[in-house]
Parts: sequence; structure tokens; C-alpha cells
Amino acid sequence: RIQRRAIRCRHDMEALNSSFLSIFESLVPAEEEKAKQMQFLLSLQNLVNKEWPNAKLHLYGSCANSFGVSKSDIDVCLAIDDHDLSKSDILLKLADLLRSGNLQNVQALTHARVPIVKLIDPVTGLSCDICVNNLLAVVNTKLLKDYAQIDKRLHQLAFLVKHWARSRRVNETYQGTLSSYAYVLMCIHFLQLRKPAILPCLQAMDATYTVTVDNTKCTYFDQVERLRAFGVRNKESIARLLWAFFHYWAYHHDYTNDVISIRRGSIISKRAKDWTRRIGNDRHLICIEDPFSISHDLGRVVDKFSIKILREEFERAADILQYDTNPCVTLFQPYVA
Ligand code: ATP
Ligand code: MG
Repeated sequence: RIQRRAIRCRHDMEALNSSFLSIFESLVPAEEEKAKQMQFLLSLQNLVNKEWPNAKLHLYGSCANSFGVSKSDIDVCLAIDDHDLSKSDILLKLADLLRSGNLQNVQALTHARVPIVKLIDPVTGLSCDICVNNLLAVVNTKLLKDYAQIDKRLHQLAFLVKHWARSRRVNETYQGTLSSYAYVLMCIHFLQLRKPAILPCLQAMDATYTVTVDNTKCTYFDQVERLRAFGVRNKESIARLLWAFFHYWAYHHDYTNDVISIRRGSIISKRAKDWTRRIGNDRHLICIEDPFSISHDLGRVVDKFSIKILREEFERAADILQYDTNPCVTLFQPYVA
């Protein structure tokens, strides 16, 4: 199935760049939105500290990793040392507390894969999910945010890819397609492998940041302000990168043998990770290694039906960017069943 087509990109690609950049601009949230989020977080923190004076709230996910589009949900992690209560009990108690604080639609989902309390803030209308002690997510949020500060093309590419994935309904993990987190990792990996590289591999550099979370040591170089010029030798425009990204996933990625790894900044083999066959529900049909939880394949949600859908969408996107007369519109046309 791999067609190693060495195809040249269309001659008017550069002319499309400003249109893609305007779409990117329209997706970036306004500054007021950030301020509202922080205010909301502060009010939650006050409420939580009434019951647990030492507990802390951390933002994670797209509201903190800089890859959040306008009106994204807010992901919050409650960091708490309460050895007397189980995680479920903490969530149930938290839900009561939130209800007493007049938050709306408070629901404790104690049996979800990642147990959370969901709620809506009546003041801002923001929806929010709160999990307990999921600190690895807080650390991978920082890693993504740090990568985003190195070269602005990551930000632009990831916003456009996320926008495409949402429009085409391939950003739904419960339907067997990929999470936003997985798409951002795919973008980082892609930019690490451009020639010349647009992003470095922070985990392969001397560590300036080290934390140990749930027995996992997380270390990498986080002084990213020193890397602002890293990608300057590569002059590729965002339109060209978007085209190359979809071409890679449509026609060049080796789905049978390869795993993408931002931890290594290279492809690694499925064989080396023992991801060559289905184990339980993990099918490893598209393999994306988590940067810290390295036994964790973010593609594990993908099954034999959804892999076909995903690959057809990558091919559709690549072909539109190659041939369509109005790719900035066609690419994002909503999927209708
Ligand atoms: P969106 O804009 O769609 O809300 P998001 O960046 O919040 O995007 P999600 O996929 O909702 O992305 O994930 C939220 C956060 O949870 C991620 O930033 C990541 O820290 C963590 N996360 C999500 N999925 C996983 C996973 N499978 N393994 C580890 N961490 C994950
Ligand atoms: Mg989110």
C-alpha cells in the first residue's frame, strides 16, 4: 500500500500561504479568553482550598499547552495528598464542593478511563474537566508548550491540522480516531525530521528540567528561549509544510513497521517496542509513542475500521493540497456521513 511517490508540490503553493495563515489567525483565541480562564481557575482554587488547604490546581491540555483554539474546554488537574480517600471518593467529594459553589452541570465520572468531574462555569460559560493527580499530563503539557516556543510554524501547523481533524471528524478517540494530543505529537515529530530540521529533540539534549512522576523520570532541555533560531535555516512555508505533512501520512509513513517518537526525534521500529501484534485492545495500527510514558502508544485507540478512515482522510487531504483549485476551503469542508 505504500506508494513512495516522490511528487513535486504544486507551483502555486506559496500563493496559498497567506490564506492558510489567515485561517490560523482566525483560530487563535483572544487574550481576554486567557484572562477569563485564569480568573475561573482562581475561583476554583479558592473553593477547593476550603476543603483541602494544601491541594493545588494545575491547568493542562490545550488551555495550557498553547495549542488551544478559541472556546476550548478547560482541563484541570487537582494535585492532592489525601491518603484516606480513594480517587473516586475524592472526585465525589469534589463534585459536592463544586455544587455548593454554584457551578453548573456538575457530574462525577468515576468509571471513565480517566476519571473526572465535569462542570460548567455559569459566569463564563466555560466547560471544564477536573482529574485527580494526573501529573504526567501536566508535564507533557509543559513539553508541548516548550516546543511551541521554538518555531512558530509548529503552532501554525498544529492549529491547521487540529482544525482539519475536527472538521473531518477524525479527532474522536471514542470513535477510534486520534486525540488532539496525538496530532500535536505528529506535528512535532514531522518538524524534527525536516531537512534542515525545524525543531530539535529536547529529550535528547542535556537536561535542564527533571521531575519524577509516578515512578517515571521526565527530563529534557527546557531553556527554549535559547533555541529561537533553531529552525531558521529551513525556509519552508506553512502551506508547503501542511502539504508535506499530509503527504507523509498518506503516502510515506510505513504503517507496518514504524513508530514515531518525539523522545528520540526519529522513527523507531515496532519490533524494538514489541508493538508488532495486537495485545488486548492495543492494535498498534498507527504507532505514536508517548514522550514520557514510553510503553504507551497513542495510536492504540485506532482499530481496523478507523485506520481505514484515517488513512483515507490523509490521502484526501494530500490530494486536495496537491490538485484542488481552492484547497483552503475544500480541505476543511465538514465531513457528512
Ligand atoms: P483539545 O483542544 O481537543 O481539547 P487538548 O490539547 O486538550 O486538545 P486532549 O487530547 O484533550 O488535548 O488531551 C488533553 C491533555 O491530556 C493532553 O495535553 C495531554 O497532556 C493529556 N493526554 C491526552 N491524551 C493522553 C494520552 N492518551 N496519554 C497521555 N496523556 C494524554
Ligand atoms: Mg482539552
